Amino acid sequence: MNYLSTRGHADRKRFCEILLEGLAPDGGLYLPETYPQVDTATLAKWRTLPYNELAFEILSLYVDDIPAADLKAICAKTYTAEVFGTDEIVPLRELEDGVYLEALSNGPTLAFKDMAMQLLGNLFEYELARRGAELNILGATSGDTGSAAEYAMRGKKGVRVFMTSPDGRMSPFQQAQMFSLQDANIHNIAITGVFDDCQDIVKAVSNDLAFKRKYRIGTVNSINWARLLAQVVYYFAGYFQATASNDKPVSFTVPSGNFGNVCAGHVARMMGLPIQTLVVATNENDVLDEFFRTGVYRVRAAVDTHETSSPSMDISKASNFERFVFDLVGRDAARLRQLFVDDLGLTGSFDLSADPAFKQAAERFGFRSGRSTHADRLAMIRDTEKRFATLIDPHTADGLKAAREQLVPGVPMVVLETALPIKFAATVVEALGEEPARPKKFEGIEALPKRVVQLPADAEAVKAYIAQHCD
Ligand SMILES: *Cc1c(COP(=O)(O)O)cnc(C)c1O
Repeated sequence: MNYLSTRGHADRKRFCEILLEGLAPDGGLYLPETYPQVDTATLAKWRTLPYNELAFEILSLYVDDIPAADLKAICAKTYTAEVFGTDEIVPLRELEDGVYLEALSNGPTLAFKDMAMQLLGNLFEYELARRGAELNILGATSGDTGSAAEYAMRGKKGVRVFMTSPDGRMSPFQQAQMFSLQDANIHNIAITGVFDDCQDIVKAVSNDLAFKRKYRIGTVNSINWARLLAQVVYYFAGYFQATASNDKPVSFTVPSGNFGNVCAGHVARMMGLPIQTLVVATNENDVLDEFFRTGVYRVRAAVDTHETSSPSMDISKASNFERFVFDLVGRDAARLRQLFVDDLGLTGSFDLSADPAFKQAAERFGFRSGRSTHADRLAMIRDTEKRFATLIDPHTADGLKAAREQLVPGVPMVVLETALPIKFAATVVEALGEEPARPKKFEGIEALPKRVVQLPADAEAVKAYIAQHCD
């Protein structure tokens, strides 16, 4: 399998070449040249596989530069009941007739990002050892990504993590999760500033090419193809649990920010998994909902990005969206460049409302969307607790709200649970007046010793810290 850039660069790459990379050299995102097709006989074979073997089968279609036995061992080591809490790994629970929650949040940091990041940690360690190389991961986080990356990379050979976060802005639970890690290869850097300052620092350091090369700086952000690929697996696993045979359509609703999660659903659908509808759920930061309603994609400025009670969806532009639009415009790289380089670059938006391609988003690709407010979120958390005795987190609540607006009789609707309520306790308390349950292994973590340095919002200070800790 070869990978191309959405912006038309002539190079073709293989999986392990793009594993440790971010954007393609022309600023595009990597996608496979074609989507492997899965027929009904294959679906029938896959239906009964344990999760780690299903992951191996799906990854094998996209990875041809890791020996099969090694890839199989990596999948087996990653997706265990020990790490993810159950043998099913992503158990499905029926809330009411035809409405399901797929649990993706029982990994080490209690958010769905573990599903991909745990695999990435093992793939990185494998590939770096094979190359005899090292990598220093530099990241910016407002919570979920940073902790998932740290728990995936802790103790891994050849990898260090330097994770910046806005000082004092994460929830106490999120801070405790990250800062209590004592592993020597994990570095928490609390920046005096906001999340945008952290992102600017990561950009500034990455743009210093000499520094980047010398200190082998890499990232694990959501545009990484391997992360996306790992997420494709749980759409298949969810489908198999929601149906008794492989001719039944199923719909999914996905709480969305950077469009990484739902883009994996799009890939699963392109492979032939019988997905009827993919519902993109947003919060007040509704760039994506606006696009699917109107055909206009209008990125927001930082000042117009709301701080909401589903903070992991607070984005001003959706970094994976370019992948879907590439398919939407028939993989026409020149057209894609016009939209994402010319139009977005000049005006901050593009408009497909009059383009025949826009209709295809719903008709051919099955996309719908929805939007929630803080009040919707609270109402959904209360309703789910009251009627089904189930506690959900604010992001999952955004999903459930959008899902209910798109139900079709006879078609199971699977809502992806993207975090556990304990991670966002304040909003759950606001809705219900009670603290969500806390898994045993997280009891008292706020009191553990913290390993974190404070630095000013200054790329030079962060560079100096990295240089100092790289030998
Ligand atoms: C990251 C995250 C999201 C958004 O996922 P994308 O892949 O960026 O669309 C939603 N919910 C939670 C809890 C998250 O951590």
